[in-house]
Amino acid sequence: MEKEKTTMTKIKAGKICRVCGGTEFASGSTAQFECVVDGDGKFVRFLETNLEDAKKATYTGPFTCLQCGMRGTRLEDITADLTMRLYEKPFDEGLTADEIMSMIQEMGSRDVLLAEFPAKTHECSAMGFIDMEYEATLNDEEKEALGDYIAWILDDMNNENANGLYAFGGATIKLTR
Ligand SMILES: [Zn+2]
Repeated sequence: MEKEKTTMTKIKAGKICRVCGGTEFASGSTAQFECVVDGDGKFVRFLETNLEDAKKATYTGPFTCLQCGMRGTRLEDITADLTMRLYEKPFDEGLTADEIMSMIQEMGSRDVLLAEFPAKTHECSAMGFIDMEYEATLNDEEKEALGDYIAWILDDMNNENANGLYAFGGATIKLTR
């Protein structure tokens, strides 16, 4: 019997603004292209035929998040990989296909583990994925602290961030309803 062939699609999840989750950053770089005009002074074309070359430039910054205005000298100062992507769910509800697809998009082609963190005083939990490499760095105490932190958000709406992003112990967590 022949083994069925499977095609794996690599999903590239980009780094996001660690403050707001934004995905576009002004680079501080500008490109100049000489314009060719006709005898009446109207635009005809750009003199350079290959504008693609401009995209290969090294962008040096400083960088500014277009969404929240966060600035950094280096991109890595203001961006982060999503370490965990979670949805808040009442005990009698599961994850929808759309939610699972969007989590896969946001985590990209990394090895992830399923994760569920129950609230302590409400009948709900946070369900989703955690980066496997990050999870492996946590000792039992840190795992407990992480669970306590997620429960702290679930149990009190006042602890919620409007953008659903949280930073905890080196992890960037996105938790939404
Ligand atoms: Zn931002």
